[in-house]
Amino acid sequence: MKTRILLIYTGGTIGMAYDRLTNALIPVDFHHIDDQIPELKRLNLEIDCYSFDVPIDSSNISTEHWVEIATVIEENYYSYEGFVILHGSDTMAFSASALSFMLENLGKPVVFTGSQLPIGQIRTDGKENLITAVEIAALKNDDGTPKVPEVCILFEDGLYRGNRTHKKNAEYFEAFDSPNYRPLAKVGIGINFNQSQILKYPDKAFQVHKELDPNVHVLHLYPGIRPQAVEAILKTTNLKALVLLTYGAGNATTDVWFLEMLNAAIENGIIILNVTQCEIGSVKQGLYETSSAFNRLGVIGGNDITFEAAITKLMVLLGCGFSREEIIEYLKISLRGEFTL
Ligand code: ASP
Repeated sequence: MKTRILLIYTGGTIGMAYDRLTNALIPVDFHHIDDQIPELKRLNLEIDCYSFDVPIDSSNISTEHWVEIATVIEENYYSYEGFVILHGSDTMAFSASALSFMLENLGKPVVFTGSQLPIGQIRTDGKENLITAVEIAALKNDDGTPKVPEVCILFEDGLYRGNRTHKKNAEYFEAFDSPNYRPLAKVGIGINFNQSQILKYPDKAFQVHKELDPNVHVLHLYPGIRPQAVEAILKTTNLKALVLLTYGAGNATTDVWFLEMLNAAIENGIIILNVTQCEIGSVKQGLYETSSAFNRLGVIGGNDITFEAAITKLMVLLGCGFSREEIIEYLKISLRGEFTL
């Protein structure tokens, strides 16, 4: 029996073409892609495709689209050995992060990929990315378990844990970075896996969390931020959780008005997660005086979690209907390898 892989096409540059009238890139029908990559047929695999009814630029991705992807995986989980998600790169790190939290005890590869140039263009990076993603999704260990049983991103020469990634480049083919976690594999002449970096095959049953609660917000700090701006965010209707983007090792202004506003928000039940604006390194609340108040107030330190993982983890945890206390406990634990302990 051939290994079976399901391609899920959501849109993105990989499947776009230039609109004749406007000359802007717009998503086109998936079968366009299929025709463009006859090489796929040469892999000794059975590859089926599922396409969004209306393929989208990933800037239009929403929580409903994540639920659609998760549902397709859930419904086809036992029929396929691996899943490849074709997705625009702009929000791929968010989608890969969200799916990593939605798919619990995942025992199959879910490999996101896309490209910087449409697949129909001569110098496209899309063909190579797609072919490598499919190969990785089909790879198995000697004991028959999948090589990479987790949600990951394959782009250019790197395979990354999805919830550790960040789109760093809108110009060059190497679009993604995983600043605080080594790649799961480096792709060159061969595919060299860092086996110790890859999540273990789960020993519990696969579960899908499809309720997401997007009542989360972000407060990106900058010197000179006005109290009205902070208040407007903290007073957002239905706000349940806030990602606070702080400086350095999780530091912020010690202005009394600021700390009082955070305190009031926490007393009103809002969960605040402290995530650093730095690419590399971790939040260490209490290291500097400018973060010691956070421990007192009950702000949660996010370690080296990315913004993309922080916001989507909160959406999934809130959607699961956990109590505030349970969510805070889950934020302190790395659920899918999303931060370094
Ligand atoms: N705007 C495109 C998207 O994210 C860019 C890409 O595909 O890389 O859908």
